[in-house]
Amino acid sequence: MNFENTLAFAQQLDDNDALKHFRKKFLFPKHKEKDCIYFTGNSLGLQPKNTSEEIQKVLDNWGSLAVEGHFKGNEPWMHYHDHLTKPLAKIVGCLPHENVVMNSLTVNIHLMMVSFYHPTKQRYKIICEAKAFPSDQYAFESQVKFHGFNPEDAIIEIKPREGEHTVRTKDIVSVIEQHADETALVLFSGINYYTGQYFDIKTITQAAHDAGTYVGFDLAHAAGNVELKLHEWNVDFACWCTYKYLNSGPGAVSGAYIHEHFATDKNFPRFAGWWGNNKQTRFKMEKDFDAIATAEGWQLSTPPVLLLAAHKASLDIFEEAGIDNLHTKRKTLTAYLHFILNNINQKNNKKIIEIITPVMEEERGCQVSMLIQKNGAAIFNALTEEGVIADWREPNVIRVAPVPLYNSYEDVWQFGNIISDILQA
Ligand SMILES: *Cc1c(COP(=O)(O)O)cnc(C)c1O
Repeated sequence: MNFENTLAFAQQLDDNDALKHFRKKFLFPKHKEKDCIYFTGNSLGLQPKNTSEEIQKVLDNWGSLAVEGHFKGNEPWMHYHDHLTKPLAKIVGCLPHENVVMNSLTVNIHLMMVSFYHPTKQRYKIICEAKAFPSDQYAFESQVKFHGFNPEDAIIEIKPREGEHTVRTKDIVSVIEQHADETALVLFSGINYYTGQYFDIKTITQAAHDAGTYVGFDLAHAAGNVELKLHEWNVDFACWCTYKYLNSGPGAVSGAYIHEHFATDKNFPRFAGWWGNNKQTRFKMEKDFDAIATAEGWQLSTPPVLLLAAHKASLDIFEEAGIDNLHTKRKTLTAYLHFILNNINQKNNKKIIEIITPVMEEERGCQVSMLIQKNGAAIFNALTEEGVIADWREPNVIRVAPVPLYNSYEDVWQFGNIISDILQA
């Protein structure tokens, strides 16, 4: 498509957008009585208007049925999570019985590592990306130490090449090959939170399996954002949070995927709790854990139904919009943002804004990370004053993410217009 940097062109794209009306399903923070330009759906997705209603239903059942709400009412809590696994399966590309909604993300990373990180004297290393999200780094380090190894030695971080911002898939594969005999686990993010690079999950998974190791992904920035085919790509496990692109609220419940190969194996190692036990015998309250032979067998506790309700509200919207339609819009929306930013550089005759997110469509999602050569913090503050909600990362990166469910092409154009004015001033 030949883009133009004009308001009329952006509005025309909006007029032709079949998903345009989904914006009305969300609550926007206001700036001078108008909707903010909200570009931080990669950090906390907007609140769907139906969230309070879904939560209210659970509260009503609690009020009128009390403990009987577990089994009675329009949506018994015992089976509430069943509403979630099918829509999620479409979003992450797996079978319904391969995913489960439980806990929060860092907790799930630890639980998955309990199952998939079994270091031995020979094989104890973890291969990951450099500058992974801090919580992931802390999880890896503490797991390594827990097993009696030294993180300095046991964690191999793959960095971009000198002068580059993102990691080449080739380099990831060759590090995995090089350390094939001593690696216990390859654990990457799906999308790096800082650069927005979408890693080649399929290739990394293949390389890890060729090296004889398990492989998993933290999909915090990928779930609800990019196309995922976890089952088909043969990924061993994954987990994600649901408050970013999945719009399920601050501290929302997390999700996990376990390939059916392991999920159906009741004896596969895990930390157990009563909610992972066979449903037929769970309430007999007896000894000897008998795992549910699906991803549900990893559940520990009674599910947080109020949080599941918020998650359901959002997943209902994903179902209605259709994940494939969202991917189609995302590609154009983010491509338009790339175009606008390049256009600003051209007009200024220099690269004031360097996009460090990959340009190739299959290597990125919604997010665009902009490295600002000069006065980054001042520019970010000026954006905030103009009603743009973006994200600042030291030392000099502004992250923005136009989200296909609720952002418009006009948002993207307005953003470009505002940043262009700030640069002139
Ligand atoms: C957002 C994010 C987290 C946050 O973890 P919580 O346990 O939900 O606080 C962890 N890892 C990555 C990669 C993230 O993007």
